[in-house]
Amino acid sequence: MVITIDGPAGSGKSTTAKLVAQKLGFKYLDTGATYRVVAVAVLKNNISPSNEQEVEKLVPELNIRFVDTKILLNDEDVSSQIRTEEIGKLASLCSTYKGVRENMVKLQRKIAQNQSIVCEGRDMGTVVFPNAEIKIYMDANVETRAKRRQKELSEKGISESFESIIESIKSRDTQDSTRKHSPLKIPDGAIVIDTTNLSIEEQATKIIEITKSIF
Ligand code: C5P
Repeated sequence: MVITIDGPAGSGKSTTAKLVAQKLGFKYLDTGATYRVVAVAVLKNNISPSNEQEVEKLVPELNIRFVDTKILLNDEDVSSQIRTEEIGKLASLCSTYKGVRENMVKLQRKIAQNQSIVCEGRDMGTVVFPNAEIKIYMDANVETRAKRRQKELSEKGISESFESIIESIKSRDTQDSTRKHSPLKIPDGAIVIDTTNLSIEEQATKIIEITKSIF
């Protein structure tokens, strides 16, 4: 059984997806991490991220694996490296390339095969798992998303102005929702949850209630 959770950056989907998976005893797949690993590989191989052909040529050579809570690139643990703002922006650029998406979609489907799994990303319910039993789309207003991001950064000891975070979120939203291949949008049949005034616990409870009401 597959539960898909899509939504923009800061909508709360990662933390919620993890909690839902834990409470239901399901596996959890963070597909944004796979695009982030591509960005790390691009930098490690001194490829220009704007060189679509070179990036697409590199991707089939990469060995990307999730092991426990870690993500490995060619056996190297890159779990921390993928979490910077710079890598987030590069991942967003590389994810606009058709060849990159085709490879990542193949990998994501393989990981989810025959599993009870919560898959979180931007195109889970639209492209990767269009027949998922449950599709959720999470959203929140941009100020709330920026506040969440600022809190996350300050917990890591990084101070960034509220205005610059808002700008960065807006530009990522535009890039993700206007790209040609698999743009971020509400999947057909998805249940939309506005998380602006909800805690993570409340978001998870809602999704679990939806799951239990269907099965
Ligand atoms: O969710 P996260 O911020 O880790 O994703 C990084 C980037 O990867 C996103 O901004 C988006 O451009 C891309 N992405 C995607 N499709 C997914 C997951 C992430 O295009 N399923």
